[in-house]
Amino acid sequence: MDSGKPLMYETHMHTPLCRHAFGLPEEYAEVAAQRGLRGVIVTCHNPMPLPYSPEVRMRQHEFDEYIDMVQAAAEKTAGSVEVRLGLECDYFPGYEAWLERQLSSAEFHYVLGSVHTHVAEYQARFWKGDVLEYQRAYFDQLAAAAETRLFDCLSHPDLVKNEIPSEWNPEALLDDIRKALDRIAAVGTALELNTSGVYKIIAEMNPFRGMLIEMRARDIPVVIGSDAHEPQRVADHFFDAIDLLEECGYENASYFIGRSRREIPLEDARRSLRPRLRPRKLMPQRGGS
Ligand SMILES: [Zn+2]
Ligand SMILES: [Zn+2]
Repeated sequence: MDSGKPLMYETHMHTPLCRHAFGLPEEYAEVAAQRGLRGVIVTCHNPMPLPYSPEVRMRQHEFDEYIDMVQAAAEKTAGSVEVRLGLECDYFPGYEAWLERQLSSAEFHYVLGSVHTHVAEYQARFWKGDVLEYQRAYFDQLAAAAETRLFDCLSHPDLVKNEIPSEWNPEALLDDIRKALDRIAAVGTALELNTSGVYKIIAEMNPFRGMLIEMRARDIPVVIGSDAHEPQRVADHFFDAIDLLEECGYENASYFIGRSRREIPLEDARRSLRPRLRPRKLMPQRGGS
């Protein structure tokens, strides 16, 4: 099969510095080359002031090690696959100044903002005993994250659905979701289509189809990412993600380099991708998103 030249990036992946992922950036890059990708953007969970969820992130004193690790991989794979520095930041009100300092301390190509509902600090602040209110608060926080303008893109933007999956009723939340998307569109932040959702209890990508259609209506750019916590998941379900975006009316996927957004026509993205060679043997994914 004639595949086009590499165009796509794996835009969301982790390393052992996150304490729940496996594999070095060069191992992810190797899979990226097999799958016909142009590169990978390493997006480990950012250091946060202790004691904010230390079990899923590097410490502040490991930050330099992170940057060196990405740089070393970039040098090793130069000429074949690009390895670029990114970061997945927790958005939590009160830490904006911390994030601002952190993001100006290195040259990131891509910064994800995440509202991580499974983190104990998030639950302590936002759980008030009512599931619907809790889910509503999530979408409000997502919009608040965009409004900080600290992030290029917001990760897995309906993550809350898997918190109490039996109580997920998107119809009841649609007004809140629409209001949040209006706010996100107003500041121009992109949203992610995260393929790792297919392995969760509500087995579909994040966000769900109905939300993607609302995003398309507001011209919100979409970045495809697998949220790989092991090299074998690089570009996982990218073909399905491209199909889903087309079904929702999208014509392009976006990615960020040097923190500026670029677009790839979905048609070209599909042609550039190579199917997986061997059946996938996934290791169990522990925590984290
Ligand atoms: Zn995440
Ligand atoms: Zn992640």
